Amino acid sequence: MVVPDVALAPRDEAAIVARVKAAFGFALRACGWSATDGITALPLQVHITALPRGTMARTSGPRAFSVASNALRRAGVDGVLAHELTHLQDFRAARGGLSSIPRFLEEGRALSIGRGFRASLGVCADDLERVEAIAALTGEQAAEALAGFRDGSGLRRARRTGAVFRWMSVSVFFVEFLRVRAHGTGWPDAIGRLSRIWLRVGRGEGFDSAFTAEFSQPLQSLEEAFVSFVASTEGDRAARLRKTEYETTPRSPACAPAAPR
Ligand SMILES: [Zn+2]
Repeated sequence: MVVPDVALAPRDEAAIVARVKAAFGFALRACGWSATDGITALPLQVHITALPRGTMARTSGPRAFSVASNALRRAGVDGVLAHELTHLQDFRAARGGLSSIPRFLEEGRALSIGRGFRASLGVCADDLERVEAIAALTGEQAAEALAGFRDGSGLRRARRTGAVFRWMSVSVFFVEFLRVRAHGTGWPDAIGRLSRIWLRVGRGEGFDSAFTAEFSQPLQSLEEAFVSFVASTEGDRAARLRKTEYETTPRSPACAPAAPR
């Protein structure tokens, strides 16, 4: 269902809806959601509206999704749509248990999916900035981000101290760590495992028990392994990025920013 809160030409409205649908389809597949989970059936309410400057899209619950009326003229919008629609599914899957999930896991997963969708369209957006932020991390900064980025109050603190981009970088790199390196070789289906944790907490299971069931160990021990890995690769960019999605991110301006379509 589309709710245009601002007047748009029908062609522009149709273009926004098509982009939202493509991003939603990608996010559903990346999360491993299927019709049998019962969470893809709810109708999506797409509000095309004026959003605060700098915001391209926003999720405010399990149904309502807002897209800025000028979104299609903004760089990297497809990744933002997939990211925010992943959050919309977070509400649907984890329901009342969502607040028990550490915020850095939610953001890392959504960033990973948003980046994956952009990459499938050949759009790099802020990848270069991201890879530099990841390469520059110290073990101490990784530990600080994981400890601080547990909920909305942590995010507000990061905004006040200008640490949001770094904390987000730690979040998405933690998910990469789960996917390719933790536990020896990582879990290639880490995002699907996280999705199952979301469903478990949505059914009332405690987060710690759900996490341990899917990853065979508590989150805390993987956080410690991650911080040790970041500390041990300080100054060794190649070792840090090996096997991750960021290993082959072009380091030159050849990777074009998103062009409006
Ligand atoms: Zn997010």
